[in-house]
Amino acid sequence: MGREEQRHFDVLVIGGGPAGMAAAACAAERGVRVGIVDDNPSFGGQIWRGGLNSQPNPNSAKWTERLRRSGAVALCGLRVVHQPEEGVLLAEGQNGFCELRYDRLVLATGARERFLPFPGWTLPNVMGAGGLQAMVKSGLLIRGKRVVVAGTGPLLLAVAAYLRKHGAEIPLICEQASWSSLARFGSALIRWPEKILQGLQLKRDLSGIPLAASTWVVAAHGEAAVESVVISRAGRTKTIPCDYLACGFHLVPNVELPLLLGCAVRHGFVQVDDFQNTTVPSVYCAGEPTGVGGVELALIEGQIAGLAATGHTKEAAAWFSKRRKAHRFAQLLERTFRLRAELSTLALPETMICRCEDVPYSRLRQHTSWRSAKLHTRCGMGPCQGRVCGPATQFLFKWNPDSVRPPVFPARVETLAAFSRQLETQPSEVTGGH
Ligand SMILES: Cc1cc2nc3c(=O)[nH]c(=O)nc-3n(C[C@H](O)[C@H](O)[C@H](O)COP(=O)(O)OP(=O)(O)OC[C@H]3O[C@@H](n4cnc5c(N)ncnc54)[C@H](O)[C@@H]3O)c2cc1C
Repeated sequence: MGREEQRHFDVLVIGGGPAGMAAAACAAERGVRVGIVDDNPSFGGQIWRGGLNSQPNPNSAKWTERLRRSGAVALCGLRVVHQPEEGVLLAEGQNGFCELRYDRLVLATGARERFLPFPGWTLPNVMGAGGLQAMVKSGLLIRGKRVVVAGTGPLLLAVAAYLRKHGAEIPLICEQASWSSLARFGSALIRWPEKILQGLQLKRDLSGIPLAASTWVVAAHGEAAVESVVISRAGRTKTIPCDYLACGFHLVPNVELPLLLGCAVRHGFVQVDDFQNTTVPSVYCAGEPTGVGGVELALIEGQIAGLAATGHTKEAAAWFSKRRKAHRFAQLLERTFRLRAELSTLALPETMICRCEDVPYSRLRQHTSWRSAKLHTRCGMGPCQGRVCGPATQFLFKWNPDSVRPPVFPARVETLAAFSRQLETQPSEVTGGH
């Protein structure tokens, strides 16, 4: 899209991952004007995003084709940063910005990795597990590199398998959950036979790689980049030489845009009714922002949202029982990979917590709330806008992040000027920036 364009859609979908693709395809197949926006050059979200030499899996190929045939207008490379007035979103891309008008909106903004600070976590080559996978998909050569994979959640195994396939050597996978939690998880999978098959495939892909439970990284060391990590296992520490540390602690939903639009969020997740309708009429939400449950749940919720947003509630209701089953899997994930308290004690006084604004642990622990820390230290006010340090401080200090302010992503001055024009006409709408 060019500069200052305006488009109007009956249904607008934000996020082109599995949930957004399913919502947009289902809505467009019902004959309404649908637009689907994603800030990446192509759709697919975190799991299906293509890369160099990537082979689409059958599910992603199916949904890509279905979306293409549905007639939904694809708006790739555009990032929604603000809602200047009800029914209008402001998005920015390489060529400028545009206004997207909608009658009904589906938010499918996905999730990101959770990072927890420990000494050395800001060293080069210490990366999010999914982040390293994304870099390898984009061409980073990992062949022959030693990668310790650590943190929690099933993503660690998927990433380890992917990295090994691309030639990495994985000396160890460190999972903070205990063997007893993992064993309960394994036996509960009997209710999800397809997950057992995925698990068996992963087991084959990872054969020979040791997996240590109740194990976590306590420090990373190195000069110009990470050279080794120290892990804690059964009360003992051990140093493992490595070239990369791929480290992530399950996922945090992207709820900034839903919050900006006034959708209620509880325990970190967007509140929705049976039809994926948020507390804001005409705004629906699907996928990871409503609960971290994997690709199957994201697809089911996306279909329900797309059908409900076009008034096809009866068809949407046909998905309810499958969604209930997928929700139970999400709850199982949440129970199994709950973070252990020890992880909140790893940071030293000098460990950076907000790496955008260089705020160490010692400066934060003097405060009693996110707001106070933000006002006095600038924690959360850098380019990531608290997306990394917010969830970390929530875990470390039990702080609840404040309300979200526009723009929800850093934006160019000309885009900001566009919504300051709105400000002149509607002074009460916008309360300020970061
Ligand atoms: C880093 C990472 C790697 C993962 N890798 C795997 C894996 O290998 N295997 C696996 O099974 N699961 C993986 N997952 C989990 C997987 O993403 C989910 O299970 C599922 O795909 C979620 O689908 P979704 O549509 O809800 O969200 P996503 O797939 O996250 O899609 C959301 C999309 O919305 C876009 N978006 C967000 N905000 C805006 C905005 N304001 N404007 C425009 N676009 C926006 C995002 O860029 C993204 O493309 C990964 C998750 C993460 C965070």
